[in-house]
This record gives sequence, C-alpha cells and structure tokens, in this order.
Amino acid sequence: MDAIATTCNLAPTTFDLDLPDWLRESLRESSAGSEQTVSSDTVLISQAFEFAYQLHEGQYRKSGEPYIAHPVAVAGLLRDLGGSSTMIAAGFLHDVVEDTDVSAEEIESRFGAEVRQLVEGVTKLSKFNFSSKTERQAENFRRMFLAMAADIRVIVVKLADRLHNMRTLEYLKPEKQHQIALETREIFAPLANRLGIGRFKWELEDLAFKYLETDAYRQMQELVAERRSDREERLTQVVGILRSRLEKAGIQGLEINGRPKHLYGIYRKMERQHKEFHEIYDIAAVRLIVQTNEECYRALAMVHDAFRPIPGRFKDYIGLPKPNRYQSLHTGVIGLTGRPIEVQIRTLEMHHIAEYGIAAHWKYKETGSSNNTQITAEDEKFTWLRQLVDWQHDLKDAQEYMDTVKDNLFDEDVYVFTPNGDVIDLSRGATPIDFAYRIHTEVGNHCAGVRVNGQWRVLDNPLQNGDIVEIITNKNGRPSLDWLNFAVTPSAQYRIRQWFKRSHREENVARGRELLEKELGKKSFESLLKSEPMKTVAERCNYHNVEDLIAALGYGEITLNLIVNRLREALRVGLENEPQETELSPKEFVQSCSPYPQSPISGKSNPIAGIEGLMYRLAGCCDPLPGEPIIGVVTRGRGISIHRQGCSNVENVPGEQLVPVSWNSTDTDNGRPQTYPVTLQIEVLDRVGVFKDILSRLSDQHINVCHAQVKTQDGKPALIDLSIDIKDRQQLERSFAQIKKMSDVLNIRRISQVDE
Ligand code: MN
Repeated sequence: MDAIATTCNLAPTTFDLDLPDWLRESLRESSAGSEQTVSSDTVLISQAFEFAYQLHEGQYRKSGEPYIAHPVAVAGLLRDLGGSSTMIAAGFLHDVVEDTDVSAEEIESRFGAEVRQLVEGVTKLSKFNFSSKTERQAENFRRMFLAMAADIRVIVVKLADRLHNMRTLEYLKPEKQHQIALETREIFAPLANRLGIGRFKWELEDLAFKYLETDAYRQMQELVAERRSDREERLTQVVGILRSRLEKAGIQGLEINGRPKHLYGIYRKMERQHKEFHEIYDIAAVRLIVQTNEECYRALAMVHDAFRPIPGRFKDYIGLPKPNRYQSLHTGVIGLTGRPIEVQIRTLEMHHIAEYGIAAHWKYKETGSSNNTQITAEDEKFTWLRQLVDWQHDLKDAQEYMDTVKDNLFDEDVYVFTPNGDVIDLSRGATPIDFAYRIHTEVGNHCAGVRVNGQWRVLDNPLQNGDIVEIITNKNGRPSLDWLNFAVTPSAQYRIRQWFKRSHREENVARGRELLEKELGKKSFESLLKSEPMKTVAERCNYHNVEDLIAALGYGEITLNLIVNRLREALRVGLENEPQETELSPKEFVQSCSPYPQSPISGKSNPIAGIEGLMYRLAGCCDPLPGEPIIGVVTRGRGISIHRQGCSNVENVPGEQLVPVSWNSTDTDNGRPQTYPVTLQIEVLDRVGVFKDILSRLSDQHINVCHAQVKTQDGKPALIDLSIDIKDRQQLERSFAQIKKMSDVLNIRRISQVDE
C-alpha cells in the first residue's frame, strides 16, 4: 500500500453520520495508532472513506440523506461478502469519478492502480443503460462483459451498488423505478446468479418484483404471512425430529433451520406451472448443514427414513454441481401433516458458496488478504469464468463472442431485441411468429416475413439470444394454418386460431360441411345436421351450436373422427330412448356404419373382460378385433378406450392409465353376431372388374362392406380403401388370404396405428 501518501486527517467525531460499527472501528484505529501498529488494510479503508466523504460533501440523495450514506452502504455489502480492503475502498469511491471532479489518475496516486481499475470499471458500467433505446444493445452487452472478464470484482462492486439502489428505490419517480427494476431483473439478478451470489440474487429479484408487479408482490407477501405461524410450527416439529435423528446417527448438524422461500421464486413457480399458492408445496424448506460430503448422504438417508420421500424430487447437486458451483442435496418429503417439505442438505463450505458464490472464495480462503482477490486461470473451480476469458481471446468475431456469452448467461429463456432495442423475453425454441404476436396481435396476423440481425430468415427458425428481430408486415398478409406447427407460445397459438375462427367463418363452415358430408353420406346429411343427436354432439364438444361445431372442424380445432364417434354414440342412445321406427335416416346411419359395441348403458353383454360395469369404447385408431391382444386406456370423461397392444397412440400413455383387458368369448349380441369396423387398403393393378371381384369374395363370407373408395393414378397401381365389418381376427385373416390369392392384387394391409 505504498501508494497511500496521505495519513488520516479527520477525527471520527467529525462525522455526524450514523456510521456502521466496523467503519467507526477502522477510523478510530487508524487515527489513534502510529503507522507501524495499524494495518495497511485499515489505513486504506479509512482513507478511502474520508476521501469519498469530502468529495461527496454537500451532495444529497433523493431520500434526503447525505450522499455518502450510499457508498458507505455499498462498501458494507462488499465487506459482508468478504471483499478485500481494495474492494471495500472501491465501494467507497465507486461514484466519485462519475459524480465529482476527481480524476482516475488521482485515485491511482492516492489508493493504487487496483482501486483505480475497479472504480473505472464501475464507472464504465454505470453508463451501461439496458433500457436505453438509442444505444445499440449488443454494444452494451459487449462492453459489460469485456469489463467483467477483465476483472470480475468490478461486477461484484456493481452488484452491491445496484442492490443498495434497489433498497432505496422508493424515493425515485415511478418511471425511473420501473426502468431500474427491469434492468435489475433482466441483467443484474441473472448476473448475481451466474456468479453464484445467492443472497444478492434473491434480494434483487424480490425488490424488482416489488416494483414491477406491485400488486402480485403484495399478494405474495400476504399469502406467505397468512400461513406463517402454521408453517413455522410445522417446520419446528420437523426440525426437532431431524435434530434428534441426526444426533442418534452421530452426525453433528451445524445448523438445522426452516425457512420460507423468497417471494419471487414462489411467484415464478406459480406462473410457470399455472398453480395456485396453496398448490406450491415447497414454500417451506428445511436446510441441514453438516460437516462432510459423506455426512450429507448419510443425513439424506436419515431424512428419507424419518419421512416419506416424494418420488422424482431428489437432486444431487453434489455429484453434479450447477455451473455456478452451487452444491447441495435436494429432496422432497411428506411432512407431519401430510404437507410436502423441501429439504436441502449441504456442508458449510457448500453453504458459503451458495450464499456468496464467487465471493466465497475471498471470504473463506485461509491465506492472507493481499493475494486472494485475483481470479487466476489456475483456479480450477472457475471454469466457466475462464471460458469467458478464453473466448474473449479466441474469438476474433465480436458477434460470436457476444452470442456465446449471452447463451451462458441466460439459460432458460430467450432474450431478443426489437429494432428499437426493446428486450422481449420468450421461451426457448420460440420462433419469429411468437415474437410477432408478442409485439401485437395485428403484427402477428399481418406478418409477411422476418429479418433477424439484418438478414432474411424463414419464419419457423427458432430465435437465439440477442437476435435483433424485425417483423415485416403486409396489410394483405394473413396467418397460415401451418404457423400452428411452429408457434410455441400458447398466446401466439391462441391468436392464430382466433383469427381463423373469426375471419373465415364461411370458408370454415363450408370446409367442415364438405368433410362431414363425405363421411356421413349425401343422403342423410342434411337431416342429420338438424337432428337432436347432432346438437348433443356440439354441446358435448363445447360449441354453442352445430354451425360452430362444423366451423371448428373446418379450421382444424376438432377432428372428423371425434365428431363421427360422438354422433354414433348420441344416435344409439337416442334410438334406445325412443324405440319406435321413424323415417329418419339416423337409424340407417347407425346400421351402415357398423355400430361400435357400446358401453353397458345398453345393458347387453360386455365383450371386454376386466372392465365390467365401466363405460368403454373401441379406439378408432387401431380397430381392435376379438382374438387380438388389447389394452385399456383410462380417458378423461370417456371411460376406457380399448386399443390393440402395440398401437402407437398407447406408447406414451403413463402406466397408471393403462388397464389390462381381454376379450370375452361372447360373440353374439341377442343372436346377431357382433362385428367390428376394420379399414383395409388394397393395392391392385388397374383392371376393370377387380373391385367387383373383391366385393363378391367378401360377400361370399357374409362380410358387410360399409365404405369403399377406389383411387386410380396414371401409370400406378390403383388403391382401394375398404371399410368392412369383421367378427373376429380369424375372419379377418381368412378374408386377407382370399383377397391375396387374386392375381391382380399386389398388396393388402390393414390401416391402423399399429405396425402390422
Ligand atoms: Mn452508486
């Protein structure tokens, strides 16, 4: 500390300020002792304070306090983090170059090159204005990260500065509050997280929350407070049990405590998982601090022994630390009253890293204070930081550097920019269509193209962090149904559908009618449309009327299959309720479409074993036949759906929704053989008469054909689509063999979701 030329010239009593004890102590020591007895650290700290005090004299903050209160608070935060005297000095001096006449050279001559570097770095960063629309965002980011990679302590000082400014934000005007809070949420809280300084991150997030979503913040405060005593009592009991168990196991628990999570964390969870407050069950958490890694795992076993663990909630961040070095074991257990509790287990060192992150390195390193502040390339634990520095040297292309850095800073969302420099956050995988709809519904509806970073791109390309996105609109532009395939945000998808609903009503109704008429047949179509069962179908599908239902079919919100299946159901129920013969064609329709064996509402024998008394339906995707292995799937509100085993629609159904089922041997229904629909596709040489031959062979076997269609293409084999009613697997196999024997038949296959 040779650079310090002056000695203390102000007595601590001069300050009519409420100074923190540690500072008073330093000042007293430094003014009382001779230079031999007072440590150079104390001298540096005292003199930095006194210099800042003089320079800021006569300046006041918006709160009315003398300005010096702010640097004192910042220096205090840095001291709490374990910052060296150099950093604490920089905390006192961080605003003097910006706000007073003093030069960087003078700082260096008084306090040394290191303090100068830190103060200059922070001064540069304070010019960084994230929400500024005039400056190029990319340039800002770059400057910030270059400064950061050069000396990480600059960022830590800046974070302390920001934290104190956030704590005193109430004195600023609302617009300014909003701007600073937004910047804090988007830049500084993620940075604190990246550096692993948990205590800064949580407080910054909660303070930003308070100013950005004031109502929600208040509500969260009340909700957390409401249940506090209840929760605390529960936690105290759990903590008591764990304490005695630990003791018995011979593990010395250094600290066991229960705590509520920070407000913004709970709020985010509610938003993301669309849950209510009472559904977020880890609002309360218990933290165990033990001595060794091995004890962490033993304590975990003990916790799982004392309380029932919740499957899927265990995370081992000791074996697999987070990129910011965070380590702990996390688990969830069912507490005493049946309410889940989160448990975190870690060593003291891990705890310090969780709270102080990169700064834990300074705070708890055993060696002296002089040489422990530089993060060197040799420091194994800061790999990610070393990578930042390496990239800076390796990548000539600044843009590439930027991209890499930003990808590493924000890992859950994608942050992109409007051409004006506004920041838009989207979920990962979002495309220009999502962006367009986020800007405005009309921008989305008239989106005609996109330029990303000045270059034309296709609309389905996912956006990357830092992209500058410019949507080109056309007043005649209109959404495409195709967009639904790559819009990932629910709001964009909703708006695209809305547009189709509203703007193309007539077209949609016409398309829907066409589709449905093809399926139901011309003859009965009009009367079916007006029938009661059709109204029932519309109601059951949540549409106001039949026309809305038809329109929904037209724009693809609902499938043809669903309507037809529900209509069959409604018709059957209707027929049973009014058994008298009518001239109406619904009956014809039911017969021609080979009624699915329906649920026991009919009171007839149930061909499926294993679900007696339950409502069920045969899945249309794989058309199971008696004799084939089947499986039941529990559906919401529609009973059990019976699929063939191996149907691709069953593949991703969770195990708890599956029901083992089999066919009953009853194959008649009041004397009439029960049949099941099967769809075949037959490839034939386009010979006149082959179609007729096939039909006659089926007829020989008394197989009913309910739908047939021939597609011919020039120079290619013809395709015959056949829907037939089949009694069981044997009958199907016989028909297959018969048809295959015909010389003009090239291929025959059953159409379903099962690989045959
Ligand atoms: Mn400041």
